[in-house]
Amino acid sequence: MAHPEYKYIYGPVSSWRLGRSLGIDPLSCRHKTCTFDCVYCQAGKTESFPGDRGIFVPTATLIEELRSLPEVSLDYITFAGNGEPTLADNLGEMIREVRRVRKEKIAVITNGSLLGREDVREDLAMADLVEVKLDAHSSETFQKVNRAPGISWDENVAGVKAFRKMYKGHLALQVMFVASNKAHAAAIAALARDIGPEEVEINTPLRASAAKPLPPGDIAEITAIFRKICGFGIKVRSVYEAKREKSLPFDQESTDQRRGKEDF
Ligand code: SF4
Repeated sequence: MAHPEYKYIYGPVSSWRLGRSLGIDPLSCRHKTCTFDCVYCQAGKTESFPGDRGIFVPTATLIEELRSLPEVSLDYITFAGNGEPTLADNLGEMIREVRRVRKEKIAVITNGSLLGREDVREDLAMADLVEVKLDAHSSETFQKVNRAPGISWDENVAGVKAFRKMYKGHLALQVMFVASNKAHAAAIAALARDIGPEEVEINTPLRASAAKPLPPGDIAEITAIFRKICGFGIKVRSVYEAKREKSLPFDQESTDQRRGKEDF
């Protein structure tokens, strides 16, 4: 079936963490707009590092596009896309309005850099599931892997902890392992345990990026370290153990632009 061109919505994609998920890109900028420039980013180098939040897509325009979707079966509607979604000042309003028109659960995937701000924590608190990046245990590793100019590691971690304290929904920490942080698995696991999420997702970049993925053996060792340190209270999942299915998006090109190409 032919679909109209969607500007702000992409997917649905098949996510090993979220099932069948429809993506919303609340920034929808031509170039990636982010507070980090992760070594493994599938969207290439960060070209725009905004200093503050702003309105990128009017909420009413997004909702109009959402209403035009054909019938589709979904597990989640997920705010993510080509950059850091919490940079959208109207993210909370968007979540509230999406809830009015759709029945699915709502997730947000964030790098966590703005969680030190109360307005960002309040916006994210409206989601059913929030997935926060945690690829480091120290400032040195943080700057090596996430390359976040002007962002303090201590403030970044304090923001994630402040969010955990007030958030009643499902908090997942996603740890992306590459060559430069794999030796720090135990220290990152100890930090994850201290934060206290519902789950930890162990990942490695399997979609095309500048960083090589770690092999299944390395990820199995890292997963075992996390299970030992995090204990039974925190579910630990790994990308190689998960069932991965091919996505069938409405528009392959705009989906690849936001997520990178799948390696199927
Ligand atoms: S991986 Fe995510 S947080 Fe890192 S640079 Fe890319 S969009 Fe930003």
